[in-house]
Amino acid sequence: MAAEVHGFQTEVSKLLTLLAKSLYSNKEVFLREIISNASDAIDKLRFLSITDPSLLGDDAAFCIRVKVDKDAKTLTVTDNGIGMTLEEANLHLGTIAKSGTADFLSNLSGDQAKDSQLIGQFGVGFYSAFIVADKVTVESRSAKAAANEAVRWESTGEGTYTSEAITREARGTSITLHLKPDCEEFLETWTVRTAITKYSDHISVPVMLWEEKYEAPKEGEDKPTSTWDWVQVNDAKALWTVNPREVTEEQYKEFYKHLSHDFEDPLTWAHNRVEGELEYTSLLYVPTRAPWDLYTRDKVHGLKLFVQRVFIMDEAEQFLPNYLRFIRGLVDTNDLPLNVSRELLQESAVTQKLKRALTKRVLGMLGKLSEDKEKYAIFWKNFGNVLKEGPVEDFTNREEVAKLLRFASTRNTGDAQDVSLADYIAKMPEKQKCIYYLVSGSYASAATSPYLESFKKKGIEVLLMWERIDEWLMGNLTEFEGKKFVPVTAADLDLGELEDKPAEKKQEEVKAAQPLVDRFKKALGEKVTDVRVSDRLVESPSCVTAEHGQILTAQMRRMLEAAGQEVPEEKFILEINPQHALVQKAAQTSDDAAFAKWAEFIYEEALLSEQGSLKDPNAFVRRLNELLLA
Ligand code: ADP
Ligand code: MG
Repeated sequence: MAAEVHGFQTEVSKLLTLLAKSLYSNKEVFLREIISNASDAIDKLRFLSITDPSLLGDDAAFCIRVKVDKDAKTLTVTDNGIGMTLEEANLHLGTIAKSGTADFLSNLSGDQAKDSQLIGQFGVGFYSAFIVADKVTVESRSAKAAANEAVRWESTGEGTYTSEAITREARGTSITLHLKPDCEEFLETWTVRTAITKYSDHISVPVMLWEEKYEAPKEGEDKPTSTWDWVQVNDAKALWTVNPREVTEEQYKEFYKHLSHDFEDPLTWAHNRVEGELEYTSLLYVPTRAPWDLYTRDKVHGLKLFVQRVFIMDEAEQFLPNYLRFIRGLVDTNDLPLNVSRELLQESAVTQKLKRALTKRVLGMLGKLSEDKEKYAIFWKNFGNVLKEGPVEDFTNREEVAKLLRFASTRNTGDAQDVSLADYIAKMPEKQKCIYYLVSGSYASAATSPYLESFKKKGIEVLLMWERIDEWLMGNLTEFEGKKFVPVTAADLDLGELEDKPAEKKQEEVKAAQPLVDRFKKALGEKVTDVRVSDRLVESPSCVTAEHGQILTAQMRRMLEAAGQEVPEEKFILEINPQHALVQKAAQTSDDAAFAKWAEFIYEEALLSEQGSLKDPNAFVRRLNELLLA
């Protein structure tokens, strides 16, 4: 049968052009990708052979072989893994099955070193072969297929590939790279050896390299003799099975990179072996950077699952709650059956126990990380918003997660989020009973909010928040270590013993301002639910509050509206500051029509500073102009 010509999926073509052009500075990553695929293929077969040992035939010793041919200028990686049928080769090597390729392309920064490292992360590893090869030949036979049902797939990486049925005696896959003229350094075995050691030392299958071995000259001869042989390059030990005391920091880091396809060192990790009622080993990492798809809704993030050291599945999301989905790593247990499926996992009591234990581990690891302020700041910047999902998702660990939260605060001069709830409480004056906070649309609007004026004057710290998730978080976080959270926007804000004005003085002030308050009420009518003398303003003439504390931010309102929810028109209480010159100027206006203009202006001004925008900005501007010219 003649080879059939196929066109690559458009995304693949785009990617190939990109790879060949821009990912040149870090060429040797191709070897990591090709070897990692070979190792995956072996893992898959090892797994299937648990239930069907006949799949292994008489070839049960798994290994990956790497061989260069200087004359042919080729480098070949061969494995005896699961292999591919013709259809599978067309599917897996001609298309990118995973969604997100477009995202991948748009995520490339143009920084070659970084971009080349992204390849693996985006699961487009095979195509990295074209960084160094101007032709790639794949020959493969599926473990389930007969010798004459094998496939040869070939491409020069320029829009098309061919595939045809061939006969192949051995099960598995060999990938032959016809190296580009300027990539011939990969014809040197020591270059290849270095790259394998660097990238693939943690592959748990032996990686064998076809190498020349020299022997000392024989008696009477002056030249050393040499023989070619297969030499194992990696140590092929599953790192997590090694005693933690015997593993170096460097090994943990390299293993992380192998596991996650990340190129940066992890921030921290925890390696634990547990025996007893539950038997498992876990190796959990906190990455330094967030993966690009951390917020992609349908993307599953999970741990690698091993049972009795056999790889079972990737991205097993059952072992950690969703708010810890940034954790990379693996769990290896003896308490689950080898033939466990995703469905079975979901229902298993062992899974639930492991999830509880691993969640505690991660929270403990983050607690420890938080002792290193610098590292924790990096962690918080990248993953803080994910962690904020915790108090809502995980009721049992609510307090533990709350300890890990960090906030910006009026105590800081900038927007740094580095104040923990424990810090806040520790600095509270004795008279203070609650934790005060403000959620706003941005840091700038939070930091300059009129609601903070009296707090600033009294020197009371207020936590500042402006992330999308904060409103939701604070709607669910009611107290910490017995201290209630209170929004400074609350209408019935009671400062308790923090109040520095005697109650009688306050009452007097309110009484004195009553006629003015009544005038405001009359002028504004239905627009507001009430008008009150404010206790919290120092420099601003007015502000708005809602009867029940939290005012919906404009941002949240837009989000809810975009999600198709009906958001009722909110009515506010207007609070005025009778001491403010603008309010006093209004009060001096005896003409009711002119006063109404003032009242509306003062109200809209408060709305504007709270919401960041107005329903009818033109009317506001017109009124302002009239007042200025009056
Ligand atoms: P990923 O490894 O993330 O799936 P790759 O681009 O590296 O993405 O590989 C694409 C697919 O090609 C693999 O998922 C697998 O199905 C197939 N493949 C690649 N190399 C091999 C191999 N050596 N043996 C069997 N299948 C392979
Ligand atoms: Mg791969």
